[in-house]
Amino acid sequence: MAAVRQGGWRKGQLSCPFAGASLEALAEPVHMLYRISVVVVLMVTLLLSWVLGGWFGYRQLEQDSVQEAFRYRQLVANELNRYLPVPELVAEHPLLAEALKHPDDPVTLLRANEQMQRMAIIVGGSDIYLMDLSGLTIAANNFGQPNTFVGNNYAFRPYFSDAVKTGESVVYFALGIMSLERGLYFSHPVRDERGKILGVVAVKVLVHELESQWHRPDFRRQADMVVIDGDGISFLASNTGWLYRDFLPEGDDGKSARVQQRYPERDLRPMEFGIQGKPWVLSEQSSRIRMYEQGEERDYLAVSTDLPRLDWQLMVFAETRQVAWTRAGFLLGGGAVFLAGFLTWLYLRERYRRERELALRGEQLERRVAQRTADLKRSNDQLLGEIQERERTQTELRETQQELIQAAKLAVLGQMSAGLNHELNQPLTAIQAYARNSRKFLERGDADMVDANLQEMVILCDKMAELIRQFKVFARKSEGPPSVVDLRLPVDAALKIITAQNASEGITIRWQRPGSALMCHGDLIRVEQVLVNLLANAVQAVEGQEQPEIEILMTEEGDYWRCLVRDNGHGLPGNTERVFEPFFTTRSVKQGLGLGLSISRQIVEALGGSLTGHNRADGPGAEFVLKLKQRRAEE
Ligand code: ADP
Repeated sequence: MAAVRQGGWRKGQLSCPFAGASLEALAEPVHMLYRISVVVVLMVTLLLSWVLGGWFGYRQLEQDSVQEAFRYRQLVANELNRYLPVPELVAEHPLLAEALKHPDDPVTLLRANEQMQRMAIIVGGSDIYLMDLSGLTIAANNFGQPNTFVGNNYAFRPYFSDAVKTGESVVYFALGIMSLERGLYFSHPVRDERGKILGVVAVKVLVHELESQWHRPDFRRQADMVVIDGDGISFLASNTGWLYRDFLPEGDDGKSARVQQRYPERDLRPMEFGIQGKPWVLSEQSSRIRMYEQGEERDYLAVSTDLPRLDWQLMVFAETRQVAWTRAGFLLGGGAVFLAGFLTWLYLRERYRRERELALRGEQLERRVAQRTADLKRSNDQLLGEIQERERTQTELRETQQELIQAAKLAVLGQMSAGLNHELNQPLTAIQAYARNSRKFLERGDADMVDANLQEMVILCDKMAELIRQFKVFARKSEGPPSVVDLRLPVDAALKIITAQNASEGITIRWQRPGSALMCHGDLIRVEQVLVNLLANAVQAVEGQEQPEIEILMTEEGDYWRCLVRDNGHGLPGNTERVFEPFFTTRSVKQGLGLGLSISRQIVEALGGSLTGHNRADGPGAEFVLKLKQRRAEE
């Protein structure tokens, strides 16, 4: 079976599109392909992680920077909004116009100075001063102090000139002339009742307080803020090294004069940086720049926001180092996702392979089971056929056996018929003589003699009937299953038949009949036939002996009854087993067929017993042992 299946599989393999190529040779390129695919997927995953990490990192950085920018924008706006209306309110005070109208009146000027002082206290931490139309300070909150503004001329300051020119409020940023401190200047013209401009009042606010609010502990340390004016000069910076630096080195023609005036005594060194371009995820207000400072290079994301009302720009510089960290995180994440995916793929592939293998094995098993079942069914059918055949043969054998037994019986009967003639003739002749004599006695009227003769005749008839009955029984075919038989009875019956023959005359037959029944498994007729055979053979064997003797002995041997038939005849031929072969005989055709012992053995074995024969050890002659299984009477 296996060979056929294997052959079939090979055939299937040959019919595949890769016919001729070995599986190993095919597996190599497939493995290579797998490896390349895995590497490609890994590269793509890492590339995507890199790009996404950059995108996410820059977006995060920009968002933080925009939030910070918005916060500072609000701070500056609040500051401006707080101070912007102050000069206008101050300018409304009639005392200021009065002082401008009468600049030589010391009382008025004193009152104006005191008023300025009060106002400065109310506004908080600022300087307030009043200039006439020539720009000369005539009153200030710091009058009488060593560095008082009184007497200084600020005509060149745009917060003065612009206020006079426009007649509106002006906001201006500059370093103080005296203090060299950064200040925000809010100014407004002072008018008389008719609206004519008499002078300008200015409020100065120091900006370092504003700057101090920038230092937020929780904001990323890598971020720096810078506020640049319209000319690109930084005047507010979280990093002091970046203060008073030029962020727009290419300015217009008037820039130099303007910045010199605004930031006296500052060198305004230009910042060295290069614009790296804008990552695609970022908005217009952001750009990537590289700073060159003190021989170091640093990359920043610069986010710029316009501040309200002024031409200022707030710039937030965030170091891009954290983008690298984000990227590294994404790369790690991507790697982990790839690994998880790869392991899942391996697991699923293995599972699928196992399932397929199992299914294949299941199929093979089913096929094998089906084949085995078919084989079994076939051999079962064959066996059934053989059993039927055997039963038929056994029936035939039994029938043949029965016929053979019958034939053997008839043969025995044939042999005995001569003796029978004699046995029957003698009583018949005697009966005849008794009958004739009886008639004569009747004529004489001797009834007693007639009666005596009739008595003798009845006895003779009984003898003949008994003899015939024995032969009738012997000639009868045995039918029905074996049952329980007393072993003494078939011996009695067989002896009767044998002793009826002429041949048995002069033979001493010793039959030590046991006093109690010897019940055994058997059948009276069959066992009787066996014993007739054994005794007939013994009678023939002792023929011509001086003192012919036949002995029948009964003994017990284990679970068996043993019946021994021995004679002092000529004994068995050399090979004693041959006498049990069918048609083995040493006699003439008339005397025997050579079937007696073979049939007898078969009969005994069919009854579960045994029949053996051998020559006697204690003298001439043979002895046959018939063994039958003991049974209890009720069985
Ligand atoms: P048959 O008596 O027809 O020859 P048997 O099968 O009864 O057939 O016997 C076979 C042969 O066994 C006999 O021819 C005889 O030679 C031998 N045999 C049987 N019984 C005895 C015996 N008691 N003594 C000697 N030989 C015997």
